Amino acid sequence: MRYPRLKIDLDKLRDNAVRLLSACREEGITSCMAVTKVLAGNLPVARLLAETGFSHLADSRIENLIRYRNLSLPKVLLRLPMISEADRVVRYADVSLNSEPATLGALDAAAAQQGKIHGVLLMFDLGDLREGLFFQNEYLSVVERLLGMTHLRLEGIGTNLTCYGGILPEEKNLGTLLEIRDRIESAFSLRLPLISGGNSSSLYLFEGHRIPKGINCLRIGEALFLGRETAFGHAIPGMNPDVFVLEAELIECREKPSFPIGTMGMNSFGDRPRIEDRGLMRRGILALGRQDAEAADLFPLDPGVRIVGASSDHLIVDLGTVPAKVGDVLRFGVDYPGLLRLMTSAYVRKVCTGKSGSRG
Ligand SMILES: *Cc1c(COP(=O)(O)O)cnc(C)c1O
Repeated sequence: MRYPRLKIDLDKLRDNAVRLLSACREEGITSCMAVTKVLAGNLPVARLLAETGFSHLADSRIENLIRYRNLSLPKVLLRLPMISEADRVVRYADVSLNSEPATLGALDAAAAQQGKIHGVLLMFDLGDLREGLFFQNEYLSVVERLLGMTHLRLEGIGTNLTCYGGILPEEKNLGTLLEIRDRIESAFSLRLPLISGGNSSSLYLFEGHRIPKGINCLRIGEALFLGRETAFGHAIPGMNPDVFVLEAELIECREKPSFPIGTMGMNSFGDRPRIEDRGLMRRGILALGRQDAEAADLFPLDPGVRIVGASSDHLIVDLGTVPAKVGDVLRFGVDYPGLLRLMTSAYVRKVCTGKSGSRG
C-alpha cells in the first residue's frame, strides 16, 4: 500500500446523490447539476455521478470536462469562459455560464466554425458580487444581442450566492431572479428552460418549502460530497459526511518538548509561529504537508490525536497516549478546501472503494 491516500467510498457517495436528488425533486428542482470541480477530473467518481440521475455534470475547469468527454450527460462549464479558450469550451462543454457580451461573441464564432449550437446560462449577480450582470437596466440589451447570435442558445438564467460576499439565498433575491425571468420571457416571447437558483447554500430553503416556485435548477457540489449545506454549515440528515477519508503514514514518533528551543524567527512559510507550551509531548510526523492539504482542513479520526502544525511536506501531530508507532497509518476527515487540495495533489493516491465503483 502506498500513502498518503484518499479513500473515496462510492457507495456512500451514491447514497448522498440519491438522497439529494429525491429532495430536489420534492422541491420542484427538476434539473440538478452535479458540480464536480472538487474531483480534479477523477473519472470513476464522475462516472458514478453521471449514472445516478443528475441532469448535467458541471465543472469550473474545461480540462476536467475534457476528461469526462465520453460520459453521456451534458457538460456545463461553471466558471465564465476565457475568450482564449472559446474554441475548447464549445468543443467540450454543451453549456457555459456567461455574463460578458464579448465572450458570447467569441463562443458564437467558435460554435459557427465547429458547426455546433452552444448553450448559455446567463448569470445575474444578486448581491454576492462575484460573477453576473448586475445593473438591472443592462440585461435586456445583452439578451437581445445573445438572441441575435446564430450559434448560441439561451438555456436559461442563473445566480451564484454565498461564494464571495457570503450573501444567503432567500425568497427575496431568488424572487428577483424570477422577475428577471418574467421580463425576459415577455420581452422576447420565449420560455427559459433553466432557472438556476444557486449552489449548496440554497438547500436550507428546502426546509419549510421556502425555495420560490419557478426555481427549477440547482448546481450542487459540497452538499453532495460532504453531506452538509453551506448556508450555515449544518449536516444534512441522512447524508454521509465521510465519503472521503485521508490516510497518512507516520515517519517519526518521538517524545519531545512542545515548545521550540532557541530564538524564534519565522517558520518555513514566513509566519511567526504561535505555539502553546504543553510540556513534554509524544509527537508524530506524517508524510503529508501543506502542499497536499492545510492542517486546518483536516480532522483526525483517531481519538486522542491532535494536529499541532505543518510545513510543506510534514504534518505534526500530538499523539497523546495513542500507542501509534512509526509506519502506522492515521486517518483524517476533510473539509471542502482540504478535499480540493488533496484531489489536486499529484502526491495523494485516490482509491475508490465500494460496490458502486465496480466499473471504475
Ligand atoms: C462551485 C460552484 C457551485 C457549487 O457550489 P457548492 O457550494 O459546492 O454546491 C455552483 N455554481 C457555481 C457557479 C460554482 O462555481
